[in-house]
Amino acid sequence: MEAELAAAELRPARADVDLGAVRRNAERIARAVLPASLCAVVKADGYGHGAVPCARAALDGGASMLAVAVVDEGVELRRGGIEAPILVLQECRGEAVAELVRNDLVATVDSVAGGLELIKASEGRTAAASGRQKVHVQVDTGVHRRGAEPESLKDVAAVLAGSPVVELAGTWTHLAVADDPADPFTAKQLHRFRAAASSLRAAGIDPGVLHASNTAGIAHTAARHDYVRAGMGLYGFAPPALARGALVGLEPALRLSAKVTMVKTLDRGERPSYGRRRPLPERSQVAVLPLGYADGVPWRLFECGGEVLLGGLRRPLAGSVTMDQVIVDCGPEGGVEVGDEAVLLGEQGQERITASEWAARLGTIVYEVVTRIGPRVPRVYH
Ligand SMILES: *Cc1c(COP(=O)(O)O)cnc(C)c1O
Repeated sequence: MEAELAAAELRPARADVDLGAVRRNAERIARAVLPASLCAVVKADGYGHGAVPCARAALDGGASMLAVAVVDEGVELRRGGIEAPILVLQECRGEAVAELVRNDLVATVDSVAGGLELIKASEGRTAAASGRQKVHVQVDTGVHRRGAEPESLKDVAAVLAGSPVVELAGTWTHLAVADDPADPFTAKQLHRFRAAASSLRAAGIDPGVLHASNTAGIAHTAARHDYVRAGMGLYGFAPPALARGALVGLEPALRLSAKVTMVKTLDRGERPSYGRRRPLPERSQVAVLPLGYADGVPWRLFECGGEVLLGGLRRPLAGSVTMDQVIVDCGPEGGVEVGDEAVLLGEQGQERITASEWAARLGTIVYEVVTRIGPRVPRVYH
């Protein structure tokens, strides 16, 4: 906390992360998905919120497993002292397999070759590591990204089930359109998933725990199985129907703010920032904030009408977002002083700007907004 505060002092821009909100979101999700368990997805640095602290908060809130996208992210959690099971959501190869085994991460495998590599790497597992190397198999039921084809799943699983050094502990798939409860494709995927698990049982192979659902999938009771892999919900976002229903009360956990570094008054018609894209409609005060697109404030935020909270009011950007700074139009009344706090994401006074608002303006998704908040912005945890 002290080091983080020091960084936030050096650089008057910060992302405050409310770990209580992450914990409460985890509690809400864990309750909503019962009797399934919660696997908290903390890939991409906890969706920009900080992987290790968010992992701890989610575990405090009832998560019993964590998931990451790549081995390095799992290693970071282990170095941060996290002892819970950590599932890596992609088959990995080469040096990454050895690193996965060394750090006691749970592997995902979706090919025979990948399974054989994992077995080979697991033969060298030290006696200190507890038991066999755990592995889940991934089956592709329709996203058509990674995952074994349903017809070849049995071959992959048989290689793993036949090894004395690994334990086939789970079988999972991923949903393509769970955020649209009306789309019949989810039911089709879930049917394929259950059929794939049954085909393993029919071949005498225990598929282990089953999981298919992301946050949006919670809307589909049949998707829950043994675990729900929730990411976005932890950080306070869910599709509208869920946010009004099973996951009511989710709290966004991140607040992005900066202190005004300079104010000046410019004549009507002056055009601040690169490209001189917008004339000031009146003689106005403008304020400079010390963060820009290199910190995750999108360059396009200006042209799509993005606003900033200053003095409790919504204020338009005065021109293009630059790499390291943003210029805000504070209007003819002004009243803003150097050192005042500007809020880019979060609340100030009665106003609130959410990552969903940015996503809607920018024509993107909340995931992209929050994961782009860069490492240069000091995170301050509460
Ligand atoms: C990212 C991811 C999740 C989490 O999805 P959310 O929509 O953030 O809940 C779950 N499963 C897999 C395979 C993922 O890649």
